[in-house]
Amino acid sequence: MALEIVRLPVLSDNYVWLVHDPDSGETMVVDPAVAEPVIAEADRRGWRITQIWNTHWHPDHTGGNEAIKAATGCLITGPAAEFERIPTLDVQVRGGDTVRLGDCTADVIDVPAHTAGHIAFHFSAERAVFVGDTLFPMGCGRLFEGSAEQMFDNMARLGALPAETQVYCAHEYTQSNGRYALVAEPDNAALVARMKAVDAARARGEATVPTTIGLERETNPFMRASSVAELAERRAAKDGFRG
Ligand code: ZN
Ligand code: FE
Repeated sequence: MALEIVRLPVLSDNYVWLVHDPDSGETMVVDPAVAEPVIAEADRRGWRITQIWNTHWHPDHTGGNEAIKAATGCLITGPAAEFERIPTLDVQVRGGDTVRLGDCTADVIDVPAHTAGHIAFHFSAERAVFVGDTLFPMGCGRLFEGSAEQMFDNMARLGALPAETQVYCAHEYTQSNGRYALVAEPDNAALVARMKAVDAARARGEATVPTTIGLERETNPFMRASSVAELAERRAAKDGFRG
């Protein structure tokens, strides 16, 4: 059976993902910012949390680790390069490693730039990738601990995944990203159409993620940047953008 993936909005704009494998009965949580709502959601569904996977060390991605582990005894997997900043890690992984949820396997992809050790988890058979704060609808993560060159490589690596791959990111930043994207590529018809749909969805209070790799290839000005310099210029412009 296919993985069941549930989006849980927490804090002001974070998304925590609960990933349930009905065959094994395992439930994994990606980047739990907090513990209580995550545990409550799993309980409500009759799911037992067996694993946490972290994409990077930021507190809004790891803040629930300790309490969820205390409540469930789950195993916590995260980036080897950030183990000193995630004291709750049990298993350290890096690009090229494989992580298992029941019989499903995810490849670990190194995507440094937002943080130095940021990783993504790609379930190739299930056509799903969990990208943390690296790739957003029409946006990318801020370059806190890495370079535009690294982010350019990340966009190329993620952009090379199959177009139908569902992209699960950790924040609802879509509308703000889209406003800047329209400044970067005002003549992109797919982008203009997408933002109309996004504005309507947000007006109804709806989430705008997951997205897909194919949609990002068409509308994401960071994935579409033709050079490192162009990505750097766009990232700097977005950092100062108030639109
Ligand atoms: Zn972050
Ligand atoms: Fe974050």
